[in-house]
Amino acid sequence: MNDVDTTIAALRRFIDDEVKPFEREHAIGYEGQPAKAVLKQLWQRSAALGFYGLMLPREQGGAGFNAEQMCRVKEAVASSGAVLSQHVLGELSGPPRVGYLFRVATADQVQRFLKPICAAELAVCFALTEEQAGSDAAAIATRAVRDGDHYVLNGRKRFISGAPYADVAIVLAVTEPGQGSKGISAFFVDMHAPGMQVVCDYVAMHGQASHADLVMNDLRVPAANLIGQEGAGFRLGIGRINLNRLLHCATVLGWADLCLRLSIERATQRSQFGKPIGQFQAIQHLLADMATELYAARAMVMDAARRLDAGSELRMEASMCKLQVTEKAFVIADKAVQIHGGTGLVRGHPVEWMFRMLRMMRILTGTSEILRNTVAKELLEAGRGA
Ligand SMILES: Cc1cc2nc3c(=O)[nH]c(=O)nc-3n(C[C@H](O)[C@H](O)[C@H](O)COP(=O)(O)OP(=O)(O)OC[C@H]3O[C@@H](n4cnc5c(N)ncnc54)[C@H](O)[C@@H]3O)c2cc1C
Repeated sequence: MNDVDTTIAALRRFIDDEVKPFEREHAIGYEGQPAKAVLKQLWQRSAALGFYGLMLPREQGGAGFNAEQMCRVKEAVASSGAVLSQHVLGELSGPPRVGYLFRVATADQVQRFLKPICAAELAVCFALTEEQAGSDAAAIATRAVRDGDHYVLNGRKRFISGAPYADVAIVLAVTEPGQGSKGISAFFVDMHAPGMQVVCDYVAMHGQASHADLVMNDLRVPAANLIGQEGAGFRLGIGRINLNRLLHCATVLGWADLCLRLSIERATQRSQFGKPIGQFQAIQHLLADMATELYAARAMVMDAARRLDAGSELRMEASMCKLQVTEKAFVIADKAVQIHGGTGLVRGHPVEWMFRMLRMMRILTGTSEILRNTVAKELLEAGRGA
């Protein structure tokens, strides 16, 4: 499967014919958290159909899509409205989280971790953030101290997506204190090893208990689990940040697109004062603004993706995209709630949930302020014009 339109059509069929009925069968809604065994069924079905690892390069069994094609696929999946849409491509615990590690992992690590993760046999999470190190990610304090053929890890990671159901974590820890980002190393860590505790005592505003803290107390990790060289962990962790930011944008575009489609539907079906609300100019203008904002945001992402595919260095543009897309998508979701009236305020309605989810996206994977910092730095220090 390597043609993007065929792939999108096949994904839509899978989501409509299998994923949505699966959600109904297991009573899965936007809130809460399905059991791991239930999620695993979906991951493995998706893997069997070739969708789970779709975003990987061809050598690793993926479709080998470029950035533009990947953005189109991701937008289509997110806009499907399936609650479990992010699990179809393994975004929360599968191949997209580890694809970039194939080039640095040892043969043993490929066999023990990467292949089982891509086959949906193991679930993975990525653990960088700590209580005192959020935007300032290089300020992490988790320590990894070499002891014979092991490293001993101590520290606490915060807000780790997928941690409640992960088998393996990619943990970033300090191996050389005082060296900043250059003293940070990355490890494959067994989530079931003695010394690892998963503390899941908070729920983010989207209502899904899919995040947790990792508490590591004298956790012994085999030295063979070090990823790449000592001191290379931070660079590895943020190595594909430009592409990753564009891919996050694509998911956000998908949710914004769904907000618009649901709003058009509502505007034609809901009548007040004897006519569909879509006949009031106030509602028409909301829809027109939503469509215009979506078109501009999508055009920006696609332009950046094409330039990335052509080999450009896009640090500034990828930051601009994530900033603009997440801020505008939230505005689109707000208008969608307005058009839905009271119905849009009811817990569990798709636009109500997307409003909360899209609010989160202005903070996750780089806050809007940090993105503005990056853009300004490129403008002022690197001397770039837009
Ligand atoms: C639901 C959820 C899932 C997450 N998943 C993961 C995960 O899987 N793995 C992981 O490692 N992390 C994860 N995170 C952490 C996430 O990446 C951080 O929350 C995010 O980077 C922001 O850090 P912070 O929350 O500590 O905010 P802070 O860094 O404390 O920022 C607070 C405010 O100060 C602003 N600010 C900070 N520094 C500056 C500055 N220099 N200039 C201007 N403004 C500034 C910020 O923009 C923000 O508005 C997740 C978080 C959440 C809530």
